[in-house]
Amino acid sequence: MAFSLPPLPYAFDALEPHIDAQTMQIHHDKHHQAYVDNLNKALAGTDGENKTLEQLMDNISAYPAAVRNNGGGHYNHTLFWTILGTGASAPTGDLAAAINEAFGSLDALKEKMSTAGATRFGSGWAWLLVSDGKLLVSSTPNQDNPLMDIAEVKGMPILGIDVWEHAYYLKYQNRRPDYLKEIWNVINWDAVAARYKAAR
Ligand code: MN
Repeated sequence: MAFSLPPLPYAFDALEPHIDAQTMQIHHDKHHQAYVDNLNKALAGTDGENKTLEQLMDNISAYPAAVRNNGGGHYNHTLFWTILGTGASAPTGDLAAAINEAFGSLDALKEKMSTAGATRFGSGWAWLLVSDGKLLVSSTPNQDNPLMDIAEVKGMPILGIDVWEHAYYLKYQNRRPDYLKEIWNVINWDAVAARYKAAR
């Protein structure tokens, strides 16, 4: 069964002024659509057609680069849209406690993730993930993610920040650190908490 582009769960301008509507529209309708289309093309006629996205990630070293890049792109963006939005503005409950235990404070987590994103050379992602029940921060190049068998730091991603230029360039140009500061205003912590609960 072919993969398909999930609809954006809010309007293109829902994240204004932190992430502009035009960036969201191009990012979702063009970039993410292209990952989906190219993943389907790369899998056509192979056994990968019958796998779930998670199964592909788990054994990604067995597939061609086009599956790694576009399958990762599809997984990462599907996650990204859901953890942005207008839910809780800060973590609460178990997630808040786990963040405090792992990083000392929410601000310390934000700084660690922003640094991971800012220092990722070229294109990639910064991640908050659950590994062996613990929260970790990592970053990956290109469209790799912590679910992939080739990831340096493996685990279940619960929050991902896209640091490809297409995610911020129209509004922030070369100022990736500014984007990484502003994006914390539009993290949907309810969605991150739901992923945390499912990951444990
Ligand atoms: Mn992207």
